[in-house]
Amino acid sequence: MLLTIGLEIHIKLKSEHKMFCLCKNEQNFEGVLPNTNICPVCTAQPGALPVLSEDVLEKALLLGKALHCKINEVSSFDRKSYFYPDSPMGYQITQLYHPTNTEWKVSFFLDNYVTERTVHIQDAHMENDTWKMIHTWGQALIDFNRSGTPLVEIVTKPDFTTTEEVIEFLKELQRLVRFNDIGDADLEKWQMRVDVNISVRKSEKDPFGTRVEVKNINSFGMIKRAIEHEQARQEKLYAAGETFTQQTRGRDDAKSESYLMRSKEDALDYKYFPEPDLPELRLNDETIKRLNDKEIVIPHDLIKKFTQEYGFNKEYVNALISDKAVLDYFTNITDKKIDAKLVAKRIAWPIAAWMKENFTSIGSLKFTDGQFAEFLSKAQAGSLMENQLKVIMNEMLSTWKNPEEIIKEKWFDAPAIGTKELELLAKEVLESNPTIVEQYKWGKTTTIGFFIGQLMKKTWGKVSPKIAQEVFEKLLR
Ligand SMILES: [Zn+2]
Repeated sequence: MLLTIGLEIHIKLKSEHKMFCLCKNEQNFEGVLPNTNICPVCTAQPGALPVLSEDVLEKALLLGKALHCKINEVSSFDRKSYFYPDSPMGYQITQLYHPTNTEWKVSFFLDNYVTERTVHIQDAHMENDTWKMIHTWGQALIDFNRSGTPLVEIVTKPDFTTTEEVIEFLKELQRLVRFNDIGDADLEKWQMRVDVNISVRKSEKDPFGTRVEVKNINSFGMIKRAIEHEQARQEKLYAAGETFTQQTRGRDDAKSESYLMRSKEDALDYKYFPEPDLPELRLNDETIKRLNDKEIVIPHDLIKKFTQEYGFNKEYVNALISDKAVLDYFTNITDKKIDAKLVAKRIAWPIAAWMKENFTSIGSLKFTDGQFAEFLSKAQAGSLMENQLKVIMNEMLSTWKNPEEIIKEKWFDAPAIGTKELELLAKEVLESNPTIVEQYKWGKTTTIGFFIGQLMKKTWGKVSPKIAQEVFEKLLR
């Protein structure tokens, strides 16, 4: 059966302040003493009034620009009423009728970096987060630190038909948020929360099947498992001729199953109405100009440039877009007039491998950008051979020595060996190995590899295996 998927994503904004008060906003409140970052507004004291923080608006607008949104000069906030222990006000301030960012789209590549997709989005609105409940020792404790921190909720159209599309879209969204310093968007830390709406139908001509929303998902692996599980569950129900109503289910990943949270019959009535405590939001010229002047990094455009203009392979692209710091490092080095492919190649190996092995970031490299560029310019000039470059790079990463020093130590700067000299050295190799020469002459031509190895040792790797082979083939003719 055909799969249809829509997403609802909450992104935690990386602003300095909470949404409607001047309390500090953190991407992560771990290690912060509970209820120490609070004020009358975010604890909903009677009479306290919200005021939209300018820096929150700025991050939300930036996300809007990154998502190719139409930015509405006039927008407003709405009150979503519900009573639940995680909300001190008994309602949430959100944007339903006139969101600031509307009509947006995201283009992304599938994993092969060849196939392109574009997803259209219904809505992207600002809203404030709830407080945190901590259940321990039979007690329910409340921490207000998170209360009132800013979120943007993104609702996509049901445009996805495979799990891969969902994952690659979310990765692109994550990069957009991270590369433009809008948020950290770490799924595991709930800085990016994803609810997945899934339905199945027999063919494209059929209307959409009954939709089931799966919540509590916090990793890409879990998203994949949740979709596959829900698809199989619905197909089984259809096959058995059973009907089901629209519902929300929670994912229990440890048990590889989902459980019913609520069905359409007990859907909440949120009684939305315009937020009476906040005036209309009108963007002034200065704000719009600041937004227009701000440069946005679109990872999808970069990937396109890397693959189509530079001809990078998947391995290079993966290494470069893994992290904004890596991307900046790449740009910094290529700005020094070093060939882009050469830089990408060395970042993909061995630098990316070194970072992975040592659980570290590119910022921990102890050689300077200048030293790395100098090393690469030698590679670019062709004065060093591939095997020598590998040796130098490995030494640089393990000893942090200057590439120049390593080149001297290894005698890689010895003058190039002329053909005559090379032939003399090759003859020495043959003379000291008469038995193997004999074997070669009797038809065991693979012994040439031994001679090549000996010659490379004698020349400190200054000769390429290909040239060494030609010399021996000539001498042994
Ligand atoms: Zn506050």
